[in-house]
Amino acid sequence: MSPFLAQLAELCRTERTRAKWVIVPTHTLGHTLGERLALGENGWANLRFTTPLDLALPMAAPFLVRRGVDPAPDGIGPALIMRLLLELPSAGPTYFRGLADQPQMAEALWTTLAELRMAGITATALPRAAFANASKHAELRALLASYEEHLAARGLADRALVYHEARLHPDLCPIQPTDLHVELPTIIWSPLERRLLDALPGARVVPRALDLPGLDVPRRMTSLAAPIAAVAPAPASNAERLALLMSPEGAPGSDETLTMFSAGGREAEIEEVFRRIARAGGPLDEVEIACPMPEQAALVWEKAQRHEWPVTIGPGIPAALTRPGRALLAFCEWVAGGLAASRLRRMLQSGDVRLDADGLSAGQAARLLSRARATWGRQTYAAALGQLAESLRVRAADPEQPDEARARLGERAEQAERFLRWVTELLGLVPEPSPAPLWQWLDGAIAFVKTFARKASELDGEATVALTEALADLRALGDLVRPASDALALIRGRLDGLTVGGDRARPGHLHVTTLADAGYAGRARTFVIALEEGGVFPALVEDPVLLDAERKTIDPDLRTSEDRVGEALYRIVSRLAALGGQVCLSYSGRDLRQARATFPSWVLLQAVRVLKPEGGWTYDRLVEELGEPVSAVPAEPSQALSDAGWWLAGLRRADASALPAVREGFPALAQGAAAEAARNSDEFTPYDGLVPGAGPRLDPRVSGATVSPTSLEDLAKCPFRYFLQRGLGLDAVDDAEPNPDVWLDPMIRGSIMHDLYATIMRALRDRGETPNPARHGPRLRELGLEALAAHRTLVPPPSDGVYEREERELLNDLALFLKFEAEDHGQRKPLGFEVAFGGATEGEALGRREPITIDLGDGRSFRLRGRIDRLDQLADGSYEVVDYKTGRAFLPGGLDATFAGGRQLQHALYALAAVKLLRETDPEARVVGSYYFPTTRGRRERQVRPASTQAEATVVLRDLLDLLAAGTFVHTPNQDADCRFCEFSRACGPRAADRAKRKIDRAENATLEAYRKLNAHD
Ligand code: SF4
Repeated sequence: MSPFLAQLAELCRTERTRAKWVIVPTHTLGHTLGERLALGENGWANLRFTTPLDLALPMAAPFLVRRGVDPAPDGIGPALIMRLLLELPSAGPTYFRGLADQPQMAEALWTTLAELRMAGITATALPRAAFANASKHAELRALLASYEEHLAARGLADRALVYHEARLHPDLCPIQPTDLHVELPTIIWSPLERRLLDALPGARVVPRALDLPGLDVPRRMTSLAAPIAAVAPAPASNAERLALLMSPEGAPGSDETLTMFSAGGREAEIEEVFRRIARAGGPLDEVEIACPMPEQAALVWEKAQRHEWPVTIGPGIPAALTRPGRALLAFCEWVAGGLAASRLRRMLQSGDVRLDADGLSAGQAARLLSRARATWGRQTYAAALGQLAESLRVRAADPEQPDEARARLGERAEQAERFLRWVTELLGLVPEPSPAPLWQWLDGAIAFVKTFARKASELDGEATVALTEALADLRALGDLVRPASDALALIRGRLDGLTVGGDRARPGHLHVTTLADAGYAGRARTFVIALEEGGVFPALVEDPVLLDAERKTIDPDLRTSEDRVGEALYRIVSRLAALGGQVCLSYSGRDLRQARATFPSWVLLQAVRVLKPEGGWTYDRLVEELGEPVSAVPAEPSQALSDAGWWLAGLRRADASALPAVREGFPALAQGAAAEAARNSDEFTPYDGLVPGAGPRLDPRVSGATVSPTSLEDLAKCPFRYFLQRGLGLDAVDDAEPNPDVWLDPMIRGSIMHDLYATIMRALRDRGETPNPARHGPRLRELGLEALAAHRTLVPPPSDGVYEREERELLNDLALFLKFEAEDHGQRKPLGFEVAFGGATEGEALGRREPITIDLGDGRSFRLRGRIDRLDQLADGSYEVVDYKTGRAFLPGGLDATFAGGRQLQHALYALAAVKLLRETDPEARVVGSYYFPTTRGRRERQVRPASTQAEATVVLRDLLDLLAAGTFVHTPNQDADCRFCEFSRACGPRAADRAKRKIDRAENATLEAYRKLNAHD
């Protein structure tokens, strides 16, 4: 038992009924000490643990209340300072103001200002002589004065004012002249707290504390901590010899109470601590884990969650690790990233947001977003989801669809509408336009945390309250108008350092605390982790606001950088000295996050000297002494805490002979191994895409389904992808970030250009006019600008610069198109534009609602639907179906190919369709198909395919559909050509094309014969 606790126990025995006040820095600590005493041999009565503020409040409050003064809210400091700094007269001196809107600057200024206040320093008392820089002094003084005026004007009292007022009313002190009071030893109070404590009535008891040989007493301890009665250490075990850390001497014991180890990483270190706890057995509430930094406690908490061990965390868990915290950060990221759909999708997939949309799961919502092809910007969601719902409704109403599919489509349409309502509500939280008063941003963030963030535990509930309160504190800045980036930085900044779930050591729970508070719970076993060089004590860095020299002149009781280090050293050594029981010290030799080596702290070197004083220790010898660093994988399976640990430990000795047993135990793994072996073989197997059962269902000759030329070309490009998309109905997850240099993707651009070509050319055809750039150019340009503006309302461009560049390029291409049309006039007469068959005809005389039946010449046929970009009559009376290509001059399989293994079918299929459409007016119609590239990048390329290809096309189509009928959904062997822009590449892996090539080349794979024949059609 520590000398102080023994002293308290003695007081409780000798002064049984007298009021005994114990002054502690926190209630948690008081509660912990009281509990330890109660659990000891003696009970206690009338022992009152209290903080200085507990004493000051009843002395000050009646007078403050009478004057109409209320307590100032706790968390408002940094926000208020930011505001006061921004509002200082612009004509005044400036020093910090340039950085005023940086949350870290506001935080640093507030910390220093609060320190000055608790040292009793007012604006008028801030000496000019302390500052080398006059502007700095003047601005800091003005800021302090502004803060004082703010408190006075609003009738608020901060802690400093409470202490000032309390000292005026000693008669109201809760401690009576007949009471005893004693301070927790070695606590360095603030000057105002010290003054109050020095003026307390009652009998002061000098606290006892261990004398720590070789350790310098910090400078401020003599003026701000209670004087102590030093007790010489008399260690009875090696763990207790830690009191000699600074001056190892005397003979160590032969006990095992002080041990040490090193680990290969933090995860491994914590895992080893857990393994040692499990191995030793005994209740968890006999164990404490102490970490130098509070964030390391969060790692222990995560590990305890994984192993489902009950745990209390003294410093709490960062709010940013809870679901509401993570959700709020993701929300900020989404807004900062231009409301990109990809980020919203990730937010949904994280499981951190709640989707209150009638049975629609977050996963379904993410898929809807992907299917809707939403991009970024506020408008994209209504446009994309609205269009998706509309198209699903149209398909659900299609009588050609089976009932089951219609019901499914109808349900999906409703889901899209419900999801759109949810997104609209979410977007309502984001102020518009962006530079908006901060209160709008804060209200939006608070509403998001309350309504949209998921809460799945008590800790999440606590985080919700903490976050909403922390954000509400910022309302002092409410009417400031800031751009989105500043507002979001401020909101994110509120999460910094915000913790939840902090708790004292409780029965039945493992306790995790900081090294500065280690040992107060009096647990029998203590693990002190993360003892790395540079990670245990604060760095010797001066305060960014007040330099050491300035501090010393302003008030010697203000803490300098040297004081900070010296006080931390004293505190940590005194806590190590107080541990007793069994102590295990450890460090991690590698920082895996930063991929760098780390080294043991000086604390470990001293500890080994305590254990073996005569060793002549160096760091190298210490590392040797600690031996092989432990790994996250236990040395023996029996030491494992989880299934994964057991398996990994077993792998140290296992060889291939263990595989059958593993596969027997895990049939899914056996199945995976069988699948991989099949894919690696030369056989074409079901694991490579052989699905005979799907053939008849997907073959349009059998099912009667209507197909488009594009879907047939897709089948030829990669049968496997065709099966994923059209057989299984899968969509690839589109999680690509929007490209900040691109607005229109090639498909959208192509679609806009096609519409504009049709609009202008229909108008000229209907008026019988000849294309004339001078006459028709302005109208086409006007149409182009209108189309871009309309698209801009749906999908905002990433920047004005990108918009202007793409607008310029598109208008150039339109002008070029008209020029080419004027030059070609006389050689061709346009008859139809966007001539549809099997869909809405848009008033085109040649179009028809019904699909066209393509006769394959073997007694079988299928139904084709499509839209011919343009149908021209040539000077010799024949016809040409033209397919516009708005990109560079490129066709799958090459410009010179005719069919490219089925990848180029459109020219032949549209020509076949055009013959049927023209038959009523011209029974002898001869039609050729062509691809036309009328843009700058396309260099006016025109690729015409002769009419003879239409007869050959039926052979290609038969081979293609036979492939389908056989259920031969092989991966494409042409990775370079077909996989480059494929969104399913993650489903195939890197070797799919090579494996497919090997299987296709093998003649014994009879089911692939159709594919071999198809590929032979150049
Ligand atoms: S990545 Fe290649 S093999 Fe895989 S589905 Fe796409 S195109 Fe086919």
